[in-house]
Amino acid sequence: MVVVMDLAAGQEQISAVRQRLEQSGFEIFIIRGVKRLVIGAVGDRRAIDSMGLDVMPGVERVVPIMKPYKLVSRESQGENSLVRVKNVVIGGRDLVVIAGPCAVESSEQMLVTARRVRRAGAGILRGGAFKQRTSPYSFQGLDLEGLKLLAEASAETGLATVTEVVDEASLELALDYVDMVQVRSRNMQNFRLLQMVGRSGKPVLLKRGFSATIEEWLMAAEYIVSEGNENIVLCERGIRTFENATRNTLDLSAVPVVKGLSHLPIIVDPSHATGDRRLVAPMARAAVAAGADGLLIEVHPEPTKALCDGPQSLTPEDFDSLTAELKIVANAVGRAVKGDAYVA
Ligand code: PEP
Ligand code: MN
Repeated sequence: MVVVMDLAAGQEQISAVRQRLEQSGFEIFIIRGVKRLVIGAVGDRRAIDSMGLDVMPGVERVVPIMKPYKLVSRESQGENSLVRVKNVVIGGRDLVVIAGPCAVESSEQMLVTARRVRRAGAGILRGGAFKQRTSPYSFQGLDLEGLKLLAEASAETGLATVTEVVDEASLELALDYVDMVQVRSRNMQNFRLLQMVGRSGKPVLLKRGFSATIEEWLMAAEYIVSEGNENIVLCERGIRTFENATRNTLDLSAVPVVKGLSHLPIIVDPSHATGDRRLVAPMARAAVAAGADGLLIEVHPEPTKALCDGPQSLTPEDFDSLTAELKIVANAVGRAVKGDAYVA
C-alpha cells in the first residue's frame, strides 16, 4: 500500500505513521517527490483496516496497491500527470510532437530541421549526440559538439529539446544543454541510469525496451519516480516479434493499456517501430486515434544522406503533410496539435 501524506505534514506525523506501520510488520520506504511525500509499505494487506492509518494526523489517503509499481500506478493518482518540458506540456489536451533527426550531424542540418518542424507544429526538437549503435563501426555521434548544435537550433527557434543520455558523463553534460533527457530502448533496464536520471530532476522520455513487458516498463518508470522525479513521459517504440516485414512491431494496444494502469503520459514513436518512412504516417495517425499524448518522429532534411536511420526519416515536406493530417485526426478525438502556440 502507499500512504500519501498531506503536503503540510510535519516530521512527527510522518514518524508516527511510520512507527505504526513498522509495529504491524510492514517494510517501509519513504519517497519524497516534488509534489508529495509518500510512504510505501509492503506487508499483510489484511492488517490495513484495523490500523486506523487514514485518521492519523497528516495522512491524506491510504491506497492499497497490489501492483509491483506503486507511484506510477493509476491507483496512486487518479488524474493524468502533466509533464512540463520548457514551454510545452505533455499529457493534456494538446498533442506534443517531438521531431528531428536521429543524430545531430551539423549546424546546418539542425537549423534547417528545427525551422521546418517548428513551422509544421512540432513542440520539441530531438537529435542524438551520444549514439549507441548496434555496430561499433557505425557513426557514434558528435558528443558535446552535438549538444551545442542542438542548443543552438533551440536558441534560434525557441523549441524545447530532448537528447538521449547513455551514462553518468553524458547525463552530466546534457543537463546543461537540453530540456529533457531520453533513456533509449536498450537502456530501459539500466537501473543505475534510471536512478541517475531520477536524481537529476530533468523531464525524462522513457522508451519501452523492445523485449520489455508493460509491467517491466512501468517498473523502470518506478525507479525514476522513486528517486523523486515524477516528470516522466513513456514512449512506445515497437517490440521485437517474429514479424520481420517491419523493423519492430508497433504495440499500439500499449497506449490504452498504459492509460489504464498509469497516470503517466504516453507517446508513440512510429519511426523506430516501423523502420520505414512509408509506414510512419499511417501508424502516427493510428497512434493519435488510439489516445497517445504525442508522437516522436524522425525528420531529416536529406534522409538519403543521414548518418543514422535515414530509411525511416521523413523529409520536412513529408512532415508538413503528416502534421496537416494529424490535426484532423486529433480534432476527431477531441485533441489538438498546437504548433506555434507552444513557443512562449
Ligand atoms: C532513437 O530515438 O534515436 C533511438 C535510438 O531509439 P530507440 O531507443 O527506440 O531504439
Ligand atoms: Mn533513430
